[in-house]
Amino acid sequence: MTAPVNPEAINLLGFDRKGLAAFFVGLGEKPFRATQLLKWLYQEEVTDFALMSNISKPLRAYLQEHCSISAPEIVVEQKATDGTFKWVMQMHCGNRVETVFIPEENRGTLCISSQVGCALACSFCSTAQQGFNRNLSTAEIVGQLYVAQRRLGKAQRITNVVMMGMGEPLLNFDNVVAAVNLMMDDFAYGLSKRRVTISTSGVVPAMYKLAQECDVSMAVSLHAPTDELRDQLVPINQKYPLVELLAACREYVQSAPRRFITFEYVMLDGVNDSPADARALIKLLHDVPCKMNLIPFNPFPNTRYSCSSAAAIERFKSILHKAGLVTTVRKTRGDDIDAACGQLVGQVKDKSRRHIRLQQMGLLETQEALKHTSSA
Ligand code: SAH
Repeated sequence: MTAPVNPEAINLLGFDRKGLAAFFVGLGEKPFRATQLLKWLYQEEVTDFALMSNISKPLRAYLQEHCSISAPEIVVEQKATDGTFKWVMQMHCGNRVETVFIPEENRGTLCISSQVGCALACSFCSTAQQGFNRNLSTAEIVGQLYVAQRRLGKAQRITNVVMMGMGEPLLNFDNVVAAVNLMMDDFAYGLSKRRVTISTSGVVPAMYKLAQECDVSMAVSLHAPTDELRDQLVPINQKYPLVELLAACREYVQSAPRRFITFEYVMLDGVNDSPADARALIKLLHDVPCKMNLIPFNPFPNTRYSCSSAAAIERFKSILHKAGLVTTVRKTRGDDIDAACGQLVGQVKDKSRRHIRLQQMGLLETQEALKHTSSA
C-alpha cells in the first residue's frame, strides 16, 4: 500500500456506503456526506480532498489530517498477446496478490483476489500450494478495482468483476461483502448485480448468510459429480457434502435477480471428464437452476494433473447440452503470462506451512489413484 502521510490515518477505501455514513455521523456530520465522498473517490477519481468542492472546508481539512485514500500498488505489470493484463499488487506486510484484466469485445472483466493465498487445499489449484497468510481488507479488495481502473484509464472500462483470483471469498465474508457493495453501489462503481460474481468452493453456512445480505451473483466450484471424487479435488466437500451444497444453491436462487447459479467444472484428463461423469452431473443438477462453465485445466509446476483433450471436453459439453444444461467452455486467456484460472501465485508469506506439509506428503496422491475413484 502507498504509505499514508499519517500512519494512523483512516483509509476511506475501507468503508462501504453504510460504513461511511456511520463514520460521518460519528463526526457530527450528515449521512449524505457518504454519497458525496463515494462519488469523488470512485466516479470522479479525485484523490485530493482540497478539490472536493461540495464538502465543507472544515470537513475537508479534517479529512486531510486524519484520513487517507490508500490503495494497493502495482509492482509488476504483464500484458499478454491477447491483451490480458496481469498485475502483481503490493499489500502491506510484504504480501503480494495477483489481479487479472480480461478485455473482450463487449466487456472488460477484472478477476480479483480476496485473500493472500488460500486456506483451502483444492488439489488442482496452484494458489493452494502457496499456503495462507491473511484475509485482504475491504480497502485491499475494492482497491484492486480502484487501481486497475485508474491504470486502464477511460478508454477501457471494467464492466464485470469476478472474485476468482486468489483465496476463498466466503471465508473473508465481511470484507468481501463491503467491497462488492461498493462495486454495485450506484454512488460508487454502479456495476450491475449480474456482473459482479463471487466464486466459492462451497462454504455452505456463508452461502445462506450471503443470500440474506447481498444480491451478488454466485458461481460454485463443483468439479465432480460425486462426494467420493469431490472430497479429493475440493476437500471442503468433506465438511459440506454435495447434498448440503446443492440445497444452499437452490436457496440462493430463490430471490431475484439471482435466477441461476454458475457451476464451474475444471476438466481433468481421466479424472472427472468421462461421459459417465457428465450423466451423473445431469442427474445431480436436475432441480437446480444453473449454467455450466467448463474450465480447461491450466497446468502449473509440479501438478500431477493434465487437461482433458479438446475432444473429451467437446463430448462432455455436448452430453450436458443435449440434456438441456446451458454449457459454455471458458476460453483460456493470458496463458503466455500465467494469468489463467488457478495459476495466480502472488507472494504469500505462508503461515500455514502448507507447502512443507504437501512436500512431506509427497504432494498428495498420484493422478493414477484419483482415476480409480472417479465415477467413470
Ligand atoms: N476459492 C474460490 C475462487 C477460486 S478460483 C473458488 O473455489 O471458487 C476460481 C476458479 O478457478 C475456481 O472454480 C477454481 O476451482 C478454478 N481453478 C483453480 N485452479 C485451476 C486450474 N489450475 N485450472 C483451471 N481452473 C482452476
